[in-house]
Amino acid sequence: MKKIIRNADVLYQGTLQKLDVLFDENQIIEVGVNIQEECEVIDAAGLTLLPGLVDVHVHFRQPGHEEKETIHTGSLAAAHGGFTSVFAMPNVVPSPDGKEVMEEYLKLIGKESVVHTYPYGTITKKEQGKELSDLDGMSQLGVHWFSDDGVGMNDQNLLKEAFEKGKQDNFIIACHTEDLKYRPQGGSVHDSKIVTEKGWIGIPDECESEPLKNDLQTALAVNGKYHACHISSHLSVEALREAKQKGGDVSAEVTVHHLLLEDKDVKGPMWKMNPPLRTHEDRMCLIEALEDGTLDFIANDHAPHAMSDKARPMSNSAFGIVSLETAFPLLYSEFVYRTKRWTLNQLVEWMSEKPAKRFGLNHVGKIEKGYTSDMFLVQLNQESMINADTFVSKGKNTPFNGWSVYAEIKQTIVNGKTVWKG
Ligand SMILES: [Zn+2]
Repeated sequence: MKKIIRNADVLYQGTLQKLDVLFDENQIIEVGVNIQEECEVIDAAGLTLLPGLVDVHVHFRQPGHEEKETIHTGSLAAAHGGFTSVFAMPNVVPSPDGKEVMEEYLKLIGKESVVHTYPYGTITKKEQGKELSDLDGMSQLGVHWFSDDGVGMNDQNLLKEAFEKGKQDNFIIACHTEDLKYRPQGGSVHDSKIVTEKGWIGIPDECESEPLKNDLQTALAVNGKYHACHISSHLSVEALREAKQKGGDVSAEVTVHHLLLEDKDVKGPMWKMNPPLRTHEDRMCLIEALEDGTLDFIANDHAPHAMSDKARPMSNSAFGIVSLETAFPLLYSEFVYRTKRWTLNQLVEWMSEKPAKRFGLNHVGKIEKGYTSDMFLVQLNQESMINADTFVSKGKNTPFNGWSVYAEIKQTIVNGKTVWKG
């Protein structure tokens, strides 16, 4: 059934323009001035229409930890944040490491998700790093994204094998890089004076950058398609820059919180994430690396937890924060509205078209004829406050509660259908 959005400021060919957008459940049919068509009208006066956002790093917790989040609540949180395509990390129970488990998982997603949810398969069985998962079996189901997020790949021979297998079907191998020898020490913050003075245990840059260097070396050696998750350190940025200069098929994401927060902001477990918030210099380095293309795009690492998992001493409280519902408002407010460092188009490219392209989603990330009818309407430049009580995610664990923002998502459309309306 055809519908038309009228009177919105549409992000079209890089700039905001007053245009009509005609679409059906498959695609955008026409973008133009005064389109003549008798169909359902969505009057979007005063609102801005943007392409649906894409996030390659979310944790939906189901199956296994439905008390923290379900596919349904997680996908609603995505829609509330303007996200229409998300890639769900495989640290769920049972582990999606073979064809049969993945088949069940895909069925559950089909039933529960209100946005496009693409599940990662694990690289190794149960993310134990010992034996390769059935990558071919999962690939037959259309899954071409694999990750052992949460631990990462520390066996380079296995990683090499995964790259080799992936060549035919163009797999992307996404790695969380962490030297696990630091884990038992209970590290919870960046290893800098500013936080260790408070008695918390630090996690050094090398914990991330050294395993990343190993991964990049392997990727370069076999021309593997590699994606680095949540880069936080300037040392990692240097390693990525070098790998890209050598022609590696590598990409990397930076999270919303690493772009906005630093070690000096850490007040307690609500600021604890893995990798940790690092120094001011690191944060500036991440912003510049995103701008110069060393880091490719932005991701959330949406990690919902029960408050009881967070309300513990720093050393054993859970890692991670929720992010889907606050990502766009926070980044828009800081980098477009307040500091004017980025254009709206730059921000949207980093949150939509660029991740879509790298992860093989075709015709996603633009409002243009022939593109998928995934979009969202947002009210820009009016102040509101972030209030965790209004989140549809089960997780309320955010360090951004009470922050003032200048973007409020009003309506999200997936496959031509409204899945969120504020
Ligand atoms: Zn991770």
